[in-house]
Amino acid sequence: MKWTKEAETAIRKVPFFVRKRVKARVEDEARESGAGEVTLEEVNRTRARFLNKMEDEVAGFQVEACFGDGGCPRQACGSKSLQEKVRTYLEAQDIRGFLEERVRGKLKFHHELRVAFADCPNACSQPQIRDICIIGAMVPDVTETPCTQCGACVTACAEGAVALSESGPALDMSACLVCGRCVKVCKPGTLAGFRKGFRVLLGGRLGRHPRLAMELPGIYDEEAAFEIVRHCVAFYKARSTGGERFSKLFTEADFHEVVVRFRDRSLIAAGGSRAAG
Ligand code: SF4
Ligand code: SF4
Ligand code: SF4
Repeated sequence: MKWTKEAETAIRKVPFFVRKRVKARVEDEARESGAGEVTLEEVNRTRARFLNKMEDEVAGFQVEACFGDGGCPRQACGSKSLQEKVRTYLEAQDIRGFLEERVRGKLKFHHELRVAFADCPNACSQPQIRDICIIGAMVPDVTETPCTQCGACVTACAEGAVALSESGPALDMSACLVCGRCVKVCKPGTLAGFRKGFRVLLGGRLGRHPRLAMELPGIYDEEAAFEIVRHCVAFYKARSTGGERFSKLFTEADFHEVVVRFRDRSLIAAGGSRAAG
C-alpha cells in the first residue's frame, strides 16, 4: 500500500516496540475504508487509538516471520505451514487469558511469548532474540552425479565449507550453516539437499539482561519442531506463576533437558553437522 510522505514520517515517530503493529493496523484500516493511500490523518487516528488502549492490544504472544515465502531466493526451508500450526496452537492455548490471571497490574507487550521464524540462516526476522526461534535449513549431500568442476559451490559458500578437488566437492559440516546455497548453484546435481528441516533455538531475549537463544543440536522436521514448541509452551505455563517471560525461566539445565528429550528426533546423526555436535 502507498503512503504519503507525511504519513511515513509520522509512523517513524511511533515507539519502535509497537511500530510494526501500528503500521499493520493503519494499512488494514485504510484498506477496509477503501483508501488507496495511507495519509497522515489515518496514521494519527490509529496511533492515538492504539496507544490509548495499549493493554487491549496485547495479544499474549507474537509470531513473526521473515519474507521467505514472499519469494526470497535464499529460502532454505519454508516454514509457512509450521507457522500456521504454531499460531493456531498458541491461540488455542489462550496465552492472553493465562497472562491476565498471573500478571499483577496492566498487561504489557513485554509479557508476550515471542516466537520467530526465519527461512534461512540469514535470520532477517532476528529470531535469536525471541523465546522460541526456528530457522529453516537445507542439509547438503554429495551425490553420485559427476562434478563438472565449475567451482560455483565454492564461490557460493560464505562459510568456506566446500573444498573442491579432482574427485569432486567435500563438505566441512563443522563449518556448514545448512543454508543450501551450494545445492542451489550446483547445476548437475552433484550437491543435493535431500534433508530439509528446521534448526530450533530457545530462550533468547533483549532487555536489561539480553541473551541469545541456545541452539538444540540437529535439524528437526516440522512435526518434531512443533512438538518442541508445544513442550516449551507447557514448560512456560507450568513455571510462569507471575507472568515471567519464557526466556527468563528457561535455564541451561532446562535447555539440556530438552536436548536429551528430543535428540533422537534430529534428522542428522550426532556429529553429522555443526548443529548436531
Ligand atoms: S531469513 Fe533468509 S529466507 Fe528469510 S527473508 Fe531473510 S534471506 Fe530470505
Ligand atoms: S549449505 Fe553449508 S556448505 Fe553449502 S553453502 Fe551453505 S554453509 Fe556452505
Ligand atoms: S557446483 Fe556442483 S558441479 Fe560445480 S564444482 Fe560444485 S559440486 Fe561440482
